[in-house]
Amino acid sequence: MRSFAVIGSGPAGFYTAEALAKTYGESARVDILDRLPVPYGLIRFGVAPDHQSIKAVAKRYEKVALASGVRFLGNVHLGADVSVEELLHYYDAVVLATGAPNDRRLGIPRDDLPGVIGSAAFVGWYNGHPDFADLQPPLHVSHAAVIGNGNVALDVARILSKTPDEFAGSDIVGHAFQALACSSIRTITLLGRRGPHQIAMTPKELGELGHLEEATPVVDPADLPLEQDDTVLEPGQRKSVAHLREFVAAGPDDRKPKRIVFDFFAKPLAVEGEGHAERLLVERTRLLDDGTAVGTGETYSLEAGLVVSCIGYATPPIPGVPYDERLGRFPNQGGQIGERLYAVGWARRGPTGTIGTNRPDGQEVAEQIAALLPPDGEGSGRSGPDGLDRLLASRGCDPVPFSDWQKIEAAEVAAARAGAPREKLVRVEELLRAGGH
Ligand code: NAP
Repeated sequence: MRSFAVIGSGPAGFYTAEALAKTYGESARVDILDRLPVPYGLIRFGVAPDHQSIKAVAKRYEKVALASGVRFLGNVHLGADVSVEELLHYYDAVVLATGAPNDRRLGIPRDDLPGVIGSAAFVGWYNGHPDFADLQPPLHVSHAAVIGNGNVALDVARILSKTPDEFAGSDIVGHAFQALACSSIRTITLLGRRGPHQIAMTPKELGELGHLEEATPVVDPADLPLEQDDTVLEPGQRKSVAHLREFVAAGPDDRKPKRIVFDFFAKPLAVEGEGHAERLLVERTRLLDDGTAVGTGETYSLEAGLVVSCIGYATPPIPGVPYDERLGRFPNQGGQIGERLYAVGWARRGPTGTIGTNRPDGQEVAEQIAALLPPDGEGSGRSGPDGLDRLLASRGCDPVPFSDWQKIEAAEVAAARAGAPREKLVRVEELLRAGGH
């Protein structure tokens, strides 16, 4: 018998567990550990609440968790409850699927003023992540700035501009639903340090901005390159830029009270304000031939009582595991970090790609593990889940198995607003109680 520990129960963790279970069949046990009492990581806490079709992939992960030989153990903290070294002692291989939950800092003067919030915190707040339940973003202000031109920036701008009716069918958490319903924000400026051809927004997500009840996108035609130049773009990118051109052609819809303004070639220099964010000092940029942005020296002030930076994420280091500070993730060769130690997903590649990108990632690492530890080979004699269970019990740790998560889920479904799939519990204690702990 072989045994594997996968740390993290987001998409990367589940696809890896699925691949290992498939590769080894009855001859392996796979434990998926998570520090929170609930599974699914980015699916529950990152994917936007109004994108339920993307969240539906959790049904597939549920099948994995319920498969024979696979266990989910929530409420187990790597570091505090068990170390990587200990896991390597009990299991034949350990796979880190810990994602990239930390915000990259803007690194500009006064980026720590109240009102400046990283996307992990802001997205976590509206998605009911226990770490950000008390965030209270300033929504009484009239102007917000969203820094970055990726899909997370789009998510944030869209969520900030939606009406309560537009959240019908979503699982936006109650505290955010109520706070956003009372929001005074009327102008949301999306700052991109480069131009329309360099956006990292995908077409479907960008197109949604053209169909909002109360908000209208605003693009300055002067920022767009000549249309014939779009031919150099790859197809997805070309479709995204086509949406920007549609927004220009349609012009802002004056019947709508909210504006989502694209401010391209705009690099934030500093946050300004008395005790809290009030403005951003921004520098105009131009592009060099290699596509990098450089400041032109022209600066201007942008009103912003809320600043959400959506400029990427980093994987937190783990004691005893090599860490690349510059890349913000674990250094690895095709997923392998060291002997019997692997990384998948954002912890391996950095914070890029779609949910589906994690599937081949997990498959590849499972193949690497199988090449070293053939499924039909002799077992190692490591104690695997039994050893871990004994250790956790000796430390007073109270793991949440999948059956207890199902109790939590039932409680959340029962508490849902009319038309919503669930009302997430947002405190760890509440989650544990609902799970019978
Ligand atoms: P991203 O796609 O890498 O975009 C990050 C943006 O931040 C880029 O526009 C980047 O500009 C900008 N940026 C980085 N550092 C900056 C700085 N110091 N100052 C100003 N701007 C800066 O990352 P993301 O939006 O966090 O998304 C992460 C991944 O999740 C992506 O693969 C994304 O597609 C995916 N995702 C998908 C969905 C969906 O499919 N619905 C939703 C959310 C996220 P430069 O290009 O100039 O570096």
